[in-house]
Amino acid sequence: MTQHKHRVVIFLGPPGAGKGTQAERLAGEQHLVKISTGDILRDHVARGTELGQQVAPLLKAGKLVPDELLMALIRDRLASMESVRVIFDGFPRTLMQAQELDMLLEELGAPITAVPLLEVPDELLIERIVERGKTSSRNDDTEAVARERQEVYRLQTQPLIDYYAARGHLKPVGGVGSMDEVYARLLSVLGDR
Ligand code: AMP
Repeated sequence: MTQHKHRVVIFLGPPGAGKGTQAERLAGEQHLVKISTGDILRDHVARGTELGQQVAPLLKAGKLVPDELLMALIRDRLASMESVRVIFDGFPRTLMQAQELDMLLEELGAPITAVPLLEVPDELLIERIVERGKTSSRNDDTEAVARERQEVYRLQTQPLIDYYAARGHLKPVGGVGSMDEVYARLLSVLGDR
């Protein structure tokens, strides 16, 4: 396995910033695996697995799932990869997760490539989530839960901005504009265009 094949991109940004959409496109174009912890957890809920039953009330309330559960999921996903070529969407969300991810990546010899931060003003975020809720069938895409998720982001996830900035990984990207505009900005901060 050669070192240069690894690529690890971590998408940071509040709920509703458009991380999923942008990550999906980047993954498709750069042959990376998108690891969306929200999607993985919703899949467990939909299948009614033991984990799904455990986390369903947390998702519905907009609260975070315990770090240990998340780390077990991530370890599993990465362990099966020959080279680590991933985009994390919605992970890590706490300092603990970020530190554990650093340790795991070190074990795997796969350093972080970049941490794009999608920036969108607060007032637009709730609007976007409520709009998405009309078609997403996500029970956390309501205004009340969206507000709770913003608060959880502010308290638990925002400290990661400083964490990754201090390590030189953070790449702010303006998240307002069309999908294409935001994507072009993303590629430019990643040095890919
Ligand atoms: P998302 O689709 O990223 O907005 O995630 C939806 C929900 O899944 C969150 O509100 C949390 O309940 C849970 N979740 C997703 N990723 C994580 C994570 N990294 N840590 C804790 N909980 C998470």
